[in-house]
Amino acid sequence: MKMYIDGQWVGSSSGREFAAVNPATGEEFETVPMGGEEDVKAAVDAADAARKSWRDLPASQRADYVLRAGLLIREQLDAIAKVDVQNVGKPIREARREVGAAATAAIYFSGMARRMYSNVVDSEQPKKFTMVVRRPVGLVGVITPWNDPASLGMWGLAPALVTGNTVVFKPSSNSAVISAELVKVFEKVGLPKGVLNMVTGGGGEVGEALIRNRRVDMTVFTGESATGRHIAEVNAPLFRRQVMELGGKNALIVAKDAELEVAARAALYAAFSSAGQKCTAASRIIVEEEVADKFSRIFADLASKLVVGSGMREDVDVGPVISWSQKEKALNYIEAGEREGAVVLAGGGAYEDEERSKGFFVKPTVFGSAHNDMKIARDEIFGPVTAIIPVDGIDEAIEVANDTRYGLSSAIYTKDIKNVFKAIDGIDAGLTFVNQGTVGPEVGAPFGGVKDSGFGMELGEEALEHFTKKKTVFIDYSYGDRPWYFGLPKG
Ligand code: NDP
Repeated sequence: MKMYIDGQWVGSSSGREFAAVNPATGEEFETVPMGGEEDVKAAVDAADAARKSWRDLPASQRADYVLRAGLLIREQLDAIAKVDVQNVGKPIREARREVGAAATAAIYFSGMARRMYSNVVDSEQPKKFTMVVRRPVGLVGVITPWNDPASLGMWGLAPALVTGNTVVFKPSSNSAVISAELVKVFEKVGLPKGVLNMVTGGGGEVGEALIRNRRVDMTVFTGESATGRHIAEVNAPLFRRQVMELGGKNALIVAKDAELEVAARAALYAAFSSAGQKCTAASRIIVEEEVADKFSRIFADLASKLVVGSGMREDVDVGPVISWSQKEKALNYIEAGEREGAVVLAGGGAYEDEERSKGFFVKPTVFGSAHNDMKIARDEIFGPVTAIIPVDGIDEAIEVANDTRYGLSSAIYTKDIKNVFKAIDGIDAGLTFVNQGTVGPEVGAPFGGVKDSGFGMELGEEALEHFTKKKTVFIDYSYGDRPWYFGLPKG
């Protein structure tokens, strides 16, 4: 594959490439240009040159490209979903949902062109009109991770483009091939050259060059908290605008009055979809003591029945993790959980059969009798590992849910309205789901986290605030003096 700069598909200026690996087989299936500073500069040059003509186009015309891109993704859903499976290992059913979510985001944000409202302020003075106008922020660097490459990419690209910004997109090296599918769609609908550019290559080179380029006006970053902190440190002295969507260690609370089987099924999907590689994954399941054993039995039994294998198969529930190192990381956490005294109720290691030992598969692993001080309950594992933590009542459940440096998603299963409002008021997180798992945001509602999970929210109307800057305009149509002017003689 190639990078996309100024309307052309090009190799890296150094000629270097790296291999894209299918996580289900460990085999290389594509080569990806290894970009560097020169390539980032070329992309920024192109995005810079396209600024004015793109900004000057009426928003409704800009939106038309984004709408058509969304519709085209829907038309090609199956083919793009298969690339998603090949590149990041998602099961095909999940990949279709993910790619479908990218299309939905494009369609939703294309509508934002008609909702780019601002304020008219009633002036303090007679014959004076005060209004607030919106302008694009300028040139936006969109940096994404690999776990939901199509949807997370579109969450940044679509609102940035509709609001009149030009973009340099740096996708994760682990998902460059599927990310290029988004760019191809924009190319097919005729997006003017330079408006969207994509540079592939490592974060240390391409990402660093992008954040250090002074002509970039805004960073939209989704990734690990440590990377986000580093980028925020680079942005701070530049007073550069940024949206940070970072890690999570999300708690799903099960109250003793909950329908345990229903809660277990939802928790299962929240914990193990995308093989647990979701910023919103339910990696801590906090259960009231009275029902902890029963819930654990149901949950572990369901987990052990999940179909794990190559995502190309329609019957597969859980695919591989993204890479060899991610597999090692998950296995190390499983060992740490056992060492610290949590009990493996399901899974607990890698597969040894012919097919799955070649890929990066980890058994969906459930720890019971866990404690919130354990490593498995504190660190973001980003793999198919979850821990059930028994607690004494809902107040303690909320305390434990908050006892983390993260604050992205949360959920509670209960029929008691008092518990519902305790969770809404008490959990310090960007999202709280009631009687739903921790995953599954909706494009029309803001999405984002607090504490180490980031700041600024994507999706919903929030996007308009992030991707535009406001200017207040005062228009005096009295053509006369104001009472506070210096009292100098006239004429
Ligand atoms: P990383 O932080 O490792 O990487 C994210 C992106 O940043 C990649 O494109 C990476 O490039 C790039 N990058 C790395 N270093 C730098 C740098 N110095 N300057 C600029 N860019 C850099 O995250 P992962 O890809 O491992 O993704 C997993 C993480 O993403 C998890 O923590 C997860 O919770 C979080 N996430 C958050 C979401 C949210 O909305 N809150 C949603 C989804 C995931 P490369 O990989 O090519 O080196």
